[in-house]
Amino acid sequence: MSVVYFIDARGGKKPLVERLPDLVERLLQGEELRGNVALKMHFGEKHNETFIKPFYIKAIVDSLKKMHENAKFFLTDTTTIYKGERYNAIDHIMCAVYHGFSPSYIGCPVIIADGLSDEGVSVSENVEIARAIYDSDALIVISHATGHGASSYGGALKNVAMGCVTKRTKKWQHEVTKPVLNDSLCNLCGECERVCGFNAIKVKEKVIFDAEKCIGCGSCIAVCGTGALRTEEKASEKIQKRIAFVAKEVLKHVNKAYFINFAVSVTPFCDCAEMAPRFICEDIGVLASADIVSIDNATIDLIGISAFEGDPKVQVREAQKLGLGEMSYELRKI
Ligand code: SF4
Ligand code: SF4
Repeated sequence: MSVVYFIDARGGKKPLVERLPDLVERLLQGEELRGNVALKMHFGEKHNETFIKPFYIKAIVDSLKKMHENAKFFLTDTTTIYKGERYNAIDHIMCAVYHGFSPSYIGCPVIIADGLSDEGVSVSENVEIARAIYDSDALIVISHATGHGASSYGGALKNVAMGCVTKRTKKWQHEVTKPVLNDSLCNLCGECERVCGFNAIKVKEKVIFDAEKCIGCGSCIAVCGTGALRTEEKASEKIQKRIAFVAKEVLKHVNKAYFINFAVSVTPFCDCAEMAPRFICEDIGVLASADIVSIDNATIDLIGISAFEGDPKVQVREAQKLGLGEMSYELRKI
């Protein structure tokens, strides 16, 4: 059974941000971080308003720097497969700064891990780890727990599998989630065509979908307000299994990894979505563990499995099967 530390947003006299240093200390007790330590983040797509706020990250970075003087920390993420504000490294850094993740405030820089040229290290047939993450001496994965249009749930496993790899590996995971259209629900609003960066959807008298051009990024599904675009049956199960597989391949090549999940402002979609905030549960708190399976399992349990579309635990069970960690956990409130 693995330990998952937890600060509860629904109790405690101090605000979460003031309790984060305790959480970090418990997570890393007895450990000494050295060398280059990557803090894997999601800075939020431009116009997303629910990404983890910089003041939380500053509190984490401040306590890490105090406790681990021999380590150098940097915030990181990778470029996206969809053509938004984080599609290339330069725009991605500017988006991070726009959202408040500037080195002068946070106390460490942002390095986009796949750099200017989608650079990665191939570790198996379908998996390339983004260069700066592969080169790091330790990884702290800071995830905003949310629902997800394709994978039902997104937390630490998804942050590692989708977020620590190159575009090629993201595409491989997403290829099982191309949309299917129910014409009878479509009101021809054109939103899907607007967000598709691959010219895979045209809206005229009806929606014309080009499966060859589609990379399965799910942007059109996220913005389709009528439910006319959905993923195929079993697509969620398939992508969750790929997520677990890629997470395993990534973590095999990382010296040390630790996980922090924010179950606050829990939205139905991940922070890639440009949308007005809507929440699927009240704020729960922040969890931390060295076990990626336990932390995601505990996060889903605390949010409540019925808050998600589909079965969010496929990825967790698959990850346990692959030897990434334990489903059973002891939740230690601090
Ligand atoms: S976003 Fe949905 S409702 Fe709007 S045109 Fe596309 S399929 Fe139809
Ligand atoms: S059709 Fe939808 S899923 Fe396919 S590339 Fe375009 S936005 Fe992404």
